[in-house]
Amino acid sequence: MDRLRVVEQRITSAAERSGRPRAGITLVAVSKKFSAERIEEAYSAGIRAFGENYVQEFAEKRPQLNNLTGARFHFIGHLQTNKARQCCRLFDVIQTVDSVRLLEKLEQVAKQENITVEVLLEMKLSGEESKTGAAPEEIPELLAAGKECEHVRVQGLMTMPPWSEDSEQSRPYFRRLASLARQYRLPQLSMGMSNDFEAAIEEGATIIRVGTALFGPRPKPQPAAGLAPT
Ligand SMILES: *Cc1c(COP(=O)(O)O)cnc(C)c1O
Repeated sequence: MDRLRVVEQRITSAAERSGRPRAGITLVAVSKKFSAERIEEAYSAGIRAFGENYVQEFAEKRPQLNNLTGARFHFIGHLQTNKARQCCRLFDVIQTVDSVRLLEKLEQVAKQENITVEVLLEMKLSGEESKTGAAPEEIPELLAAGKECEHVRVQGLMTMPPWSEDSEQSRPYFRRLASLARQYRLPQLSMGMSNDFEAAIEEGATIIRVGTALFGPRPKPQPAAGLAPT
């Protein structure tokens, strides 16, 4: 994977620039819309963490991935409570917890399944209507709820700034997330995607979520039969 070499180079340079060890940064390869074969290929190239956005899509791919020893799977999409059980079974880390209700639901199902799940709190730091995530003012109540959990471990914060071609536009959001993580003493910071992960690393990201830069553009859904243009 030539793309992986380029991404690795970008990560190493950003880490060096900011005086951080490469080992402190987890590369999560975002494999949504790509096949299980592409995931296996990335695993063979050395990738050990994968991110998926849709519970159902990953449930279909998961049976083909039983040989990926040591791989960890991160859920990074919007989670509905009715998918919480399946999500806990399929994923090691759920990055998108944004309400006490969801946290309590995860605790309930993880307890029933007798598993432990790591979670991050998804923060909405912009005013965008379309985005999900909790407001910074909600962190104390989320952490209080997390303390009550025996099967859910709140490890950090995650955010997704408004998309921009210019990574400098993302930097203030990364800085804000890092400052919140320091304030609440949370070790993990998931921030930075293909277009802006260097800035995220410079601001302290411990997890970056990279799709396009590793796998190329995501496949477009095929037009339904009969609707194809003639
Ligand atoms: C799709 C997605 C990514 C990866 O985006 P790229 O621009 O392809 O790197 C990262 N984080 C989340 C939450 C996503 O949905």
